[in-house]
Amino acid sequence: MTLLPSEEARGGSSEIAVDALVVGLGPAGSTALRLLTDAGISSLGIDRASFPRNKPCGGGVSARTLPLLPPYLFEEIPHQVTSGISLTYRGGVSQIQDFGRPIAYQVRRDQFDWALLKAAVGSGAQVMTGVGEVSARREGEGFVVMAGDKKIRTRAIFAADGATSRVLRDLDPDAFRRIRERPSLRPFTSAEGFGELRHPIDARHVAIDLGLVTGGYAWSFPKKDSAWGLGVAGFLKPLVDPRGEFARYLESRKADIDAGGVLTWPLPNFRSVRHGRVSGLFLLGDAGGIVDPFLGEGIYYAILSATRAAEALTRALSRSDLGGQEAIAQASRDYASYVTKSLWPDFSQGARLAQVLYRFPALFFRITRRHPGLLVLYASILTGKHDYRSFSKAMILRTLSLLLPGRTPLSGPAL
Ligand SMILES: Cc1cc2nc3c(=O)[nH]c(=O)nc-3n(C[C@H](O)[C@H](O)[C@H](O)COP(=O)(O)OP(=O)(O)OC[C@H]3O[C@@H](n4cnc5c(N)ncnc54)[C@H](O)[C@@H]3O)c2cc1C
Repeated sequence: MTLLPSEEARGGSSEIAVDALVVGLGPAGSTALRLLTDAGISSLGIDRASFPRNKPCGGGVSARTLPLLPPYLFEEIPHQVTSGISLTYRGGVSQIQDFGRPIAYQVRRDQFDWALLKAAVGSGAQVMTGVGEVSARREGEGFVVMAGDKKIRTRAIFAADGATSRVLRDLDPDAFRRIRERPSLRPFTSAEGFGELRHPIDARHVAIDLGLVTGGYAWSFPKKDSAWGLGVAGFLKPLVDPRGEFARYLESRKADIDAGGVLTWPLPNFRSVRHGRVSGLFLLGDAGGIVDPFLGEGIYYAILSATRAAEALTRALSRSDLGGQEAIAQASRDYASYVTKSLWPDFSQGARLAQVLYRFPALFFRITRRHPGLLVLYASILTGKHDYRSFSKAMILRTLSLLLPGRTPLSGPAL
């Protein structure tokens, strides 16, 4: 077990009781733990891995994430700022659009996640890492979690243990049965690795290819150390052979993967997770299926969902009209309602866009060649200027304006 300073203070006691237990210390868990600790709520964070640890990921952190991060985080970790996109169709000639402002910060996940965890510990959070496999069960009005030789009693669980969440499986076994029975709920598949490009491209731009990957896209994201994060993901249905699709992309990009090799990993399907079924359980980030179904962006949503969940608990516990357990039940209802009423409708619109764009990539590419400004889609989502619903509305208005004489899709107000 790796010990962070706060763990040593915990000593050897094998039974622990807290008000909130955070399981999994990726971006979602570390954020929740930091905010719960800041709010003075008795909490503990545990992770089966020892840190720093890697997580299969492109490592693109959208600009809209910045206000949710601890201040100065990016001063501590190497990162590459990207301000544009280089789009290709089946590895052909690229069309480039620079937006003149940062749209994403490219990081390595071992460094990014480690910095987030250190920020939580810096604010006094209690953590145990390297605990191995955990198991969770209901007991009375709360929960009991076994982590190595520790028995942890808690009134609220923040499940942030990723796409294969053990906590969700233990506390709501029906969730995984539904996924097994309904193929449309299965997670999407991806393959990724780090490597070098034999024909380097401008490191200020993310490279996206449409058409090479069935029902999805391939990416090359620049890192500060001159390596590139490369990967493929399908969003219409799980890729049957992610490694094969990735090999095709590497061939077209003339890229060589480093000694870390190729990893495959699931990207949760937001339709598969039902929030609010277990009182006191907050499903965050990948464990809650909270990944954008158009871009596969999950870091922002992990941090956003953790922030909203921690806020809901802090708010409910400060209410004098609610007893402790009532407050926890109220907070988990408020959080579930936020996910289903705010995030899910937008994800549904993102999924509709994915259906059109990834089904007809050649058409989309041809249109953007004539009107490269349409690539502003990526920038306006990643900077938070639009969500999928407001973007779609703006696009419809703009397309209608085409019907007016002398107008082009790019002559309307800025998206
Ligand atoms: C190939 C690929 C590329 C991606 N690229 C991007 C990208 O460029 N930008 C972006 O925004 N998103 C990207 N995503 C999505 C993003 O990686 C995830 O959405 C994000 O990591 C979710 O964060 P999280 O904190 O919810 O979970 P995770 O980051 O998965 O963290 C979960 C933590 O829980 C721990 N854990 C797991 N099981 C247990 C257990 N049983 N007990 C205790 N601890 C446990 C793990 O060790 C881990 O530390 C990508 C995903 C994939 C697969």
